[in-house]
Amino acid sequence: MEIDYEKVGLKVGLEIHQQLDTSTKLFCNCKPELFKEEPEITFLRRLRPTQSELGQIDPAAYFEFQKGVKILYEANRVTSCLVEMDEEPPHPLNMEAVETTLTAALMMKAKPVDEIHVMRKTVIDGSNTTGFQRTCVIALNGEVKVGERNVQIQHVSLEEDAARKTGEDSNVIRYRIDRLGIPLIEVATAPVIKSPKEAEEVALAIGRILRATGKVKRGLGTIRQDINISIPNGALIEIKGVQELELLPLVVKYEVQRQLKLLKISKELRAMGAKKGDIKEEFVDVTDVFKQTKCKVLHKALDKNQQVLAVRLPKFKGFLKQELMPDFRLGTEMADRARFWGRVGGIFHTDELPAYEITVEEVEKLRRAVEARGQDAVVFVADNPENAKDALKAVVERAREAIKGVPEETRAPKPDGTTRYMRPRPGAARMYPETDIPPIQVTEDYIRKISLRLPELPEQKLEHLMEEYKLNQKLARQVLDSEYSELFETIVKESKISPTTVAAFLTETLKALKRDGVQVDKVSESQIREVFSEISAGELTKEALPDVIVWLSSHEDKGVQEAIKDLGLKVISEDELRGFIENVIEDNRSLIRERGENSFGVLMGIIMKELRGRVDAALVSGVLKEKLREFMEGRKTLLKSLSADNKK
Ligand SMILES: [Zn+2]
Repeated sequence: MEIDYEKVGLKVGLEIHQQLDTSTKLFCNCKPELFKEEPEITFLRRLRPTQSELGQIDPAAYFEFQKGVKILYEANRVTSCLVEMDEEPPHPLNMEAVETTLTAALMMKAKPVDEIHVMRKTVIDGSNTTGFQRTCVIALNGEVKVGERNVQIQHVSLEEDAARKTGEDSNVIRYRIDRLGIPLIEVATAPVIKSPKEAEEVALAIGRILRATGKVKRGLGTIRQDINISIPNGALIEIKGVQELELLPLVVKYEVQRQLKLLKISKELRAMGAKKGDIKEEFVDVTDVFKQTKCKVLHKALDKNQQVLAVRLPKFKGFLKQELMPDFRLGTEMADRARFWGRVGGIFHTDELPAYEITVEEVEKLRRAVEARGQDAVVFVADNPENAKDALKAVVERAREAIKGVPEETRAPKPDGTTRYMRPRPGAARMYPETDIPPIQVTEDYIRKISLRLPELPEQKLEHLMEEYKLNQKLARQVLDSEYSELFETIVKESKISPTTVAAFLTETLKALKRDGVQVDKVSESQIREVFSEISAGELTKEALPDVIVWLSSHEDKGVQEAIKDLGLKVISEDELRGFIENVIEDNRSLIRERGENSFGVLMGIIMKELRGRVDAALVSGVLKEKLREFMEGRKTLLKSLSADNKK
């Protein structure tokens, strides 16, 4: 069923984060790049629950601190220095990044601040070595035009990107600090977006403006969007780090679905007489029930001398299997909580049993052991006693929240557009001043200078693409929305290839390759330019383009010449082609004798099969026609002279 979002009262706000393409990082001179090799340096830190100046401690950070979670940071010398390691104070703010941010802000009609104050925003997951992220507001109150609507921009900020997570086990989380400190522009809209589709359109419009600055990084992971979603009586949910624009409307849609379903469940639970106070943190050791079990997961746990702990959820029977999003139930939601707070692999619940080789008898015994009545559900988990207890506490908490409605939390997107629990929503007032960096004056003179050389707005650029390069509107829009609009103009200027061909390749062909799983982002802009210059010089055919890109994407350190050589795509000369065609005709004499001119298609097929990607098809066709005619005329003359001989 389609949801009427207006009726539901949906409100969405977006925070778009886009990495800037500067020559150095935001607070030091390191290269803003990622490295793939083994780290040169590693260091271990314990997660400390940093207290904000208002004295609040984040519950999730405190919890992980108690668990003794350690963090292993990985680094190399090109992409990080003592600043990223928090062994040296930050250097002054990178003014190249400030200028780009101001440029984007002015394009969105936002009002620049008089003074830039760098602030510290508490970060609780270890992704910043300092325990906070540095951020500064650059401009306030702008707008972007989306269709007929002006969508309000609350602020445009500049911040440092965080370290990226590279792995995790039971008590060590690994982060790579190459990404830490890469300048990130943040654009936050007011919560005025009213439908999933509009969320995508607004993100697209903001993305276009950011790309129009010509100073943003491209590729997966360089743009990330956080979404705030709320509906009346539901909760404000923050979904962090959606990387693909196409996923945005789906994420919003599923979140609305999830909240509506949770509200319905809450109503039904209350109608059943379910009460918060009836759900008790009484955990029963049911290890004995499963002594002889055939269930592999439980068996393995018991072999390790772990315990099976169970909890009764009064009146919850049937609710845990209710679907909130595709392939995602209330039981899944409880399992996510148990995983986070108990670090367990998962949970079992009676709504899904008997299954996993757990028998009807075992379920009966289990229900008796926890004194479950007909309407009750039972949740159990197998792990060491401490983890199992923490996991069930989280399950109890989640069950209580289910009676109340929708709990506020931060969620993370999954590739199918559904989301999972990430952590509780951090409290307010997480910002305090960065004392190591003095405020920076933003003078009117400085603003005026930037205002005088603002890039074209996306709509103007669209016109310009259509007029100057004669692209049709669809193609022009695709170029504008791609990450390659700058590259498009560069290639067209330096090669002799038609703008339409270049545009179609940079949009449709690359998109199709991506869909087929080719990692197009691994091919650099300079490589793409080189491929086009080879085509322009007649060294490579247009038809060979996709093959070369596929090859380059899987041979990262190799060049275009190597691709051409390895793929055997060297263009053959016209002389070589003539020789080749003569041989083919020679080999197929009988066919030609039989079919005459109609043999053209077959011959063309034979030749192109051999030479695809190495020669222009139009040229082959021309030469083949000519050679075929010569051959047949030669034959006619021969036949004539033969028949003349016979008459004699
Ligand atoms: Zn550095």
